[in-house]
Amino acid sequence: MQIKHKRYLLCNTFVNMAKKFACGDVVNGCGWSIVAKDETELFQRISEHAKKVHNMAEIPDKIIQQVKSKIQDA
Ligand SMILES: [Zn+2]
Repeated sequence: MQIKHKRYLLCNTFVNMAKKFACGDVVNGCGWSIVAKDETELFQRISEHAKKVHNMAEIPDKIIQQVKSKIQDA
């Protein structure tokens, strides 16, 4: 019981770690950047930005991999 509780706390801390991403790391010349409370929100904001600014209705897998490799802890 105690161990389970600890694991939950650890997991929760990890999920809630703030993340940041600069679009210019993947798209040359783009000055947009984002700090989000977790990875889920980050990806949500990134896909909104990609749709609006970079005309990507869906983000290609290749770009997602690049984005993932550039995400940093905020
Ligand atoms: Zn951009």
